[in-house]
Amino acid sequence: RAFVASLGARGMSEHKKLARLAIRAFYRHSSSKERLARTGNAKYDNSRIAEVLVDALTRRTWVKEDDLANAVLLSAKQVRKALLYLEEQRLVTRAHVKEKDKDREARTRARAEENNVDEHIIMERIRAIDKKIVTYVCLNYSRVYDALALRIGTARKELKHLAEKGPVSVLFKCVNDPEICGKRYSSLDAARLMDPTTMSFKCAVCAAEVIQCGGGEDGSAPEPRTREAMRAALAKFETQVDRIQKQLDKVKGSVPPQYGTLNEYTRARKRAAAASGGGGGGGGFG
Ligand SMILES: [Zn+2]
Repeated sequence: RAFVASLGARGMSEHKKLARLAIRAFYRHSSSKERLARTGNAKYDNSRIAEVLVDALTRRTWVKEDDLANAVLLSAKQVRKALLYLEEQRLVTRAHVKEKDKDREARTRARAEENNVDEHIIMERIRAIDKKIVTYVCLNYSRVYDALALRIGTARKELKHLAEKGPVSVLFKCVNDPEICGKRYSSLDAARLMDPTTMSFKCAVCAAEVIQCGGGEDGSAPEPRTREAMRAALAKFETQVDRIQKQLDKVKGSVPPQYGTLNEYTRARKRAAAASGGGGGGGGFG
């Protein structure tokens, strides 16, 4: 089974690198920043928690949320909050199971033994202890790939469409203040604006210099949603997503680390432990 094989993987897989790039590019979630904006106070900045958790998850398979919190030195509450966000974004899978409350069992036994309680009564009391709900979490690498490919693909398609089919911009404008003149010209007017004596463009109204605009060349912000502005935006977008796009291309078609359901994972670990004659246990590292 694929997920069993991946347990023994060493080194950082390309899918793991992709997950780390993704969290930094698109998922710098901060509930405290939202809170700060809303109410003007927040205890601490938690914008990097998701990043810390994803990095830690790339070094693990299925892991108990409490163990993860301990490993990254954050409170269980902070970690749960960030993992809920990552679950909503479909980047992690969480699973809830009932487990024996070993701490409580040990405390019960210790107290009873101190008081010389009979073994069968101790066992009865231990059996009566409610199981507790424990939550496990793992990164879902195939979903990380899908979410990124969709997000980048959709944005690129939209920008490309506007760059090709968007409204034609005003290409030239008079440098005079809009209150004085500031007339705008389309590219069709360009030829008749050329002053043959100076070989420069002159405003037909006020004779001031006419400059190209729309792509931000005149120092002002690009004209909104014109083809020129969208071409500039598309170029900027491609620069920004360059690293992630390269990483997406690298992992495309390769099988991501798969840990199976928590059930499958747990059973596989038990079988592996039995086969090696070991006692099992310990954290899983992928
Ligand atoms: Zn003018």
